Amino acid sequence: MRIVFLGPPGAGKGTQAARLAEHLGILHLSTGEMFRDAAQRKTEVGLLAQEYFTSGRLVPDDVVIGIVEERLAAPDCAAGCLLDGFPRTLEQAAALDRILAEKGTPIDIVLELTVSDEELMKRMLARGRVDDTREAIAKRMEEYAALTRPLTAYFRERGLVTEIEGQGTMEDVFDRVIAGLASFRLTG
Ligand code: AMP
Repeated sequence: MRIVFLGPPGAGKGTQAARLAEHLGILHLSTGEMFRDAAQRKTEVGLLAQEYFTSGRLVPDDVVIGIVEERLAAPDCAAGCLLDGFPRTLEQAAALDRILAEKGTPIDIVLELTVSDEELMKRMLARGRVDDTREAIAKRMEEYAALTRPLTAYFRERGLVTEIEGQGTMEDVFDRVIAGLASFRLTG
């Protein structure tokens, strides 16, 4: 099963995606985590990505698509995966469709977490990651609105999107994620 998690920065995608992947026994693939990890190890891609994520800008499409394509080719992805933070642009979405079509394993469902703007800002300031300065957060929200939000319509056209209300406790949201997935399986 291939699941894409969409939602604005700070919506809790990472937390919910990790829990859901564990629940379903599939791989959790977070491009943000891959970049932070690569930056810490000071690899070439990591150092390049760091310049972007510390200022809240998106890492260039060719770099992101390259690492995801490589990762998806690994055997541990065969049973399914949950993509968290990818795709983030229409170009990435088209590349993902192409990669998965070549493997004959298309996206099954897109879960979109929705949270109000004030709550997003509060959550990001509270988590205190190195890339969570006020400036970086503002830039990330701007990039999200311009580049990532159109993905909802892109996937909705194909009837893949299930919206999940992301407000509330982690537990409440996770219950809704499970319910959303279940109703999709019944109706989809
Ligand atoms: P995240 O952990 O998903 O919030 O990602 C942290 C940062 O990594 C983002 O603010 C971007 O700079 C970068 N990043 C992660 N995924 C992508 C992606 N799919 N496309 C471009 N940049 C990304």
